[in-house]
Amino acid sequence: MDCIFCKIAAGQIPATFVYEDARVVAFRDIKPEARVHVLIVPRRHVDRVSSLVSDDDFALIGDIHRAALKIATNEGLSSGFRLVTNSGPDAGQAVDHLHYHLLGGQKLPIR
Ligand code: AMP
Ligand code: ZN
Repeated sequence: MDCIFCKIAAGQIPATFVYEDARVVAFRDIKPEARVHVLIVPRRHVDRVSSLVSDDDFALIGDIHRAALKIATNEGLSSGFRLVTNSGPDAGQAVDHLHYHLLGGQKLPIR
């Protein structure tokens, strides 16, 4: 499958990794919107939140949240962070491989 985040997870396209485990990888967003902007991505391809079906699919959300807490600690985000995902065209999802944006390191605009 021609998916950029599958290729990053497989090490076929370079990225600045900040976290890896058996189920997820995390790397810095190429176009950061905050001082800390990390993308947390399952190794297994799933299109988006609205594509989740199986128990194992939904378990990925826990895996991603667990990784987010570890990364937030490593990145020194003790005063807070935002964890957000876009699902589908109305949300502006640009890459069709499930990913959560972890944003922090500064006061974020309220939205
Ligand atoms: P979304 O709009 O939620 O699909 O966000 C996709 C995100 O992926 C954007 O913030 C992009 O800047 C980011 N992105 C796209 N290609 C890469 C890449 N090769 N390495 C790191 N981040 C990327
Ligand atoms: Zn993929």
